[in-house]
Amino acid sequence: MAGKKTGALEPDTLVVHSGLAIDPATGAVSPPIHLSSTFARDEEGALLGPHLYGRYGNPSRDALEICLAELEGGDEAACFASGSAAGLALFCSLRAGEAIVIGRDMYFGLRRLYRDLGARFGVAVHEADLRDPAAALAARPALVVVESPTNPLLSVPDLEPLAAAAHAAGAALVVDNTMATPLLQRPLALGADLVLHSTTKYLAGHSDVIGGALVTADARAPRWQAIREHQRGAGAVPSPFDAWLLRRSIATLSVRLERQIDSAERLAAFFSGHPAIEAVIYPGLPHHPDHAVARRQLRRPGAMMSLIVGGGFEGAARFVAGLKLALRATSLGAVHTLVEHRAVVEGPDSAVPRDLVRISVGIEAYADLEADFSRALAAP
Ligand SMILES: *Cc1c(COP(=O)(O)O)cnc(C)c1O
Repeated sequence: MAGKKTGALEPDTLVVHSGLAIDPATGAVSPPIHLSSTFARDEEGALLGPHLYGRYGNPSRDALEICLAELEGGDEAACFASGSAAGLALFCSLRAGEAIVIGRDMYFGLRRLYRDLGARFGVAVHEADLRDPAAALAARPALVVVESPTNPLLSVPDLEPLAAAAHAAGAALVVDNTMATPLLQRPLALGADLVLHSTTKYLAGHSDVIGGALVTADARAPRWQAIREHQRGAGAVPSPFDAWLLRRSIATLSVRLERQIDSAERLAAFFSGHPAIEAVIYPGLPHHPDHAVARRQLRRPGAMMSLIVGGGFEGAARFVAGLKLALRATSLGAVHTLVEHRAVVEGPDSAVPRDLVRISVGIEAYADLEADFSRALAAP
């Protein structure tokens, strides 16, 4: 039956099967895309199936939500039209007079959104280094939102003590798991209450769909009820096609990610030994300040790294301009290697070093990637 939970299977199997089933009407192995915006009732007024109206839900979104909930080991997932829309739904679960604490180097788009909304709707928005739980909780927040690893500085807050400290202070912990994906880290098992995703990134993986999701450890929690109401009422939901495409893409997440990390580990070693690079920021390297936490918390160190290129803004700009294979584009987690001179994207009020270049390693042949970076670093 479509929409059935798969049970206790390995994550590498869940990405293939979770939420999916053979279509009983046709025997189709790939599920149909259910475009219908409304669902019929019988003569008595009873709905013929489990669905009522497309904004509330449809079979294509169900498949995706079941899959994400199972991958994160959660109760339920709610999918949105973007990661930012998921972040907004989370924010809207707060009341005026409450406080929220976010990581100091949180994704800059959501940080800006939260600051702006907080000022207008009476929610205090505090920023903290979430590697220090005591400092984070001094503001007595209702919610703590943490990324681990962070983007683009790749610090790795320790989630288990942060969850314990948040709960002791009466706060809920939300982990943005976009960078790690549930295949490297399952925050709910470490005590988090909610997980946030920009599914645009690794889960979609091909730079062709924008999406977001929240996953809860407890579907009966009042905050989750508010989030579900917001999803259905505010309606920033993915289209059936986007939901279908995302569920289809997740099937290859495991093989994509393993290849990306294999190449990232080799590239980190290559850059570390390169005289033109000042520093390599990658949690898999022993000198990374959070290496010990990363080893414990992440199954593998991921496929994102940042380079301090040296030579200030100009030095980084020259390096990035010399690339012929890696694409100069924002975003991350795609099959193609994406490189970004972060200061260009974040603008003048960014705290990110001016010569920082972020790399999202793709699935291209390793030799071609190394050759491309090597050539760009040798350019005069
Ligand atoms: C991209 C991103 C977001 C925002 O998601 P969109 O899908 O672009 O709206 C949030 N958090 C992280 C960590 C991201 O990388």
